[in-house]
Amino acid sequence: MGTARRILVVEDEARIAEVVQHYLERDGHQVVWRATGEDALEDAARRPPDLVVLDLGLPGISGEDVCRRLREGSDVPIIMLTARDSEQDLLRGLEVGADDYLTKPFSPRELTARVRALLRRAHAEAAPQADVLERVGGRLVVDSARRRVTVDDSLVELTESEFRLLQTLARFPGRVYSRFELIEKVQGYEFEGYERTIDAHVKNLRHKLGDDARDPWLIETVYGRGYRLAEDAR
Ligand code: CA
Repeated sequence: MGTARRILVVEDEARIAEVVQHYLERDGHQVVWRATGEDALEDAARRPPDLVVLDLGLPGISGEDVCRRLREGSDVPIIMLTARDSEQDLLRGLEVGADDYLTKPFSPRELTARVRALLRRAHAEAAPQADVLERVGGRLVVDSARRRVTVDDSLVELTESEFRLLQTLARFPGRVYSRFELIEKVQGYEFEGYERTIDAHVKNLRHKLGDDARDPWLIETVYGRGYRLAEDAR
């Protein structure tokens, strides 16, 4: 079981919060429930949580803004809860730095499985790959030991999910990874139907790395198959 982790649940619907709290506590976690973004941010500032389950639709400060504000000073894993399976909601959530999302109604068991996987990932020992990958003629440098990424010698800030995705793609330039495969590498588990998470992470990555989806120099979309990192010779 390991040490109990402190999980901050931000959800204005008491019934959902109760179910989430029940299942997470049963899994051995310490759960703190806050019904508004304001209270959640205050709590997170006072005692940084190990993971955040964050409802997108909150009264007052929106879930997106809470996520953005949390991200300003922390790379705590964030799972977003969205009311509808709307592409817009999903993209908004992931664009502001959430690591994963679940669409309501969701199965509590799926939530606990994802919480477990994200915590395992976040608290894993420092990356075993102590190597530095130089790609695309040295323009991109992925330093796994220091968890640093530079593009044309400029440091780029990435979330843990974005970093893992880039690290995976950079390992073998030119190799095509399916979205499903990337989900497993990035999130640490496989769930069908969440491949769009990868599209959103790729979109963020391209933006941060100064890549262009229409004419990529870095991450190429392989239609119907997935993504790959550009090979050196272009
Ligand atoms: Ca809500």
